[in-house]
Amino acid sequence: MAATDGTRGKKRSGGVRRGRPSGSRSSGSRAGTRNTGGAPIVRRGTVRLQHEVARRIRAGHPWVYREAVGSRLSRMKAGSPVELVDWDGDFVGRGFYDGETAIAIRVMTRDPGDEIGPELVAKRVREAILLRRRILDWERYECMRIINAEADGLPAIVVERYGSHLVVQLYTEAVSKLRDPLYDALAAELSPAAIYEQRRFKPLSGAAPRSGAELVRGGPAPVEIEVREGDLKFWVDVTAPLATGLFADLREGRRVTSCWAKDRRVLNLFSYTGSISVYAVHGGATAITAVDVAARAHARARRNFALNGIDPEGPEHIVGDTFKVLARFAERKRQFDMVVIDPPAFASASRGGKTWSAVKDYRELIAASLEVLSPGGVLIAASSTRRISQSDFDMTLAEGAARARTWLRIVNRLSLPRDFPVLPAFPEGNYLKFAIAIRD
Ligand code: SAH
Repeated sequence: MAATDGTRGKKRSGGVRRGRPSGSRSSGSRAGTRNTGGAPIVRRGTVRLQHEVARRIRAGHPWVYREAVGSRLSRMKAGSPVELVDWDGDFVGRGFYDGETAIAIRVMTRDPGDEIGPELVAKRVREAILLRRRILDWERYECMRIINAEADGLPAIVVERYGSHLVVQLYTEAVSKLRDPLYDALAAELSPAAIYEQRRFKPLSGAAPRSGAELVRGGPAPVEIEVREGDLKFWVDVTAPLATGLFADLREGRRVTSCWAKDRRVLNLFSYTGSISVYAVHGGATAITAVDVAARAHARARRNFALNGIDPEGPEHIVGDTFKVLARFAERKRQFDMVVIDPPAFASASRGGKTWSAVKDYRELIAASLEVLSPGGVLIAASSTRRISQSDFDMTLAEGAARARTWLRIVNRLSLPRDFPVLPAFPEGNYLKFAIAIRD
């Protein structure tokens, strides 16, 4: 599965648009400013927000959408600091301009004492690390998210730790000026062996995207490094352009999978580097079948098996398209007791020449998986795309089951792990859907 901002290995979806802000107290506009049909007044780096928008930002939502500010900011440079005030001119927060995107302004603080700059970045880094120190065992869990973008007050910036290495994901060029203070603060707090940077945006200059992550601090990392997760270990590549081989956001999902695997024949679809397969074996699965279109992913999975003392040739590794493999299994009446589905978050894979669509194809995938799942079997379904809401996801499970002429009962759900905090005013930050269901 891929996501952003985590969203595992893929690009963030630019932000969900909200309805036009309403309820502005435009009659209260001050002398010297003109109420232009409800549009916010912008003056020398200050943006005046309509009542509803100011309320939302004060509650903790980190984005001011372009439609709430109109075209008046377009002469600003991406990354320029912006002060936000409410319609009465009272301070709301500070952030920076994000250029010509759906998100016009990203908010970094609601404290008038904070200026956007190195000190604030360093403070945010310290707070984020302190939170993770409190909630996770850093020795037993070496793969974790230590900065979760807006939820940690560092918009569009994600930092993940893989043992002594750090991987930074930047989601907009507008954070360019914050990079050095960020890397200085990370180096000061954690003394990492290296920091790698992934740029997950198209450069404004039109330059070609990089082919891998860029080393921005420390020395070059080995091709693969070993990270510990509880009782297990995995190889990761911190120099990879997107996915390193182990998704931090699926940590709880892996653990739960292992709990359900005992005495079951497990089919792991979109198996990637086999982390779920390894967990399933660890949990007592009687057999593993892993399906992935990429032969290279299976090669990495075999190395992960070996790393955990499991015979790499024990599991069945099938290189192929999930739908085709499922059709073949159904034809041969092959059955499993547990099927795990964790597809890519965004259109990337091909389905018979067509592009895999996480939204449309999921229902078909559920139906096809249920064809090979024995009665009473366990279906574990994950989705990390922001484009599917929890309720749409549930409906997908329901309709997939109906298509396969059976029923699914959800017996457990998971959300993002604790190192992916979510702001209550920003539910968009919670992109992971994960359900464990039993079929009739
Ligand atoms: N479940 C994995 C993450 C999946 S990443 C985990 O636990 O870590 C998505 C994977 O899907 C990639 O390895 C990619 O090669 C694979 N993939 C994409 N399209 C596919 C398809 N049509 N059939 C099979 N595998 C596919």
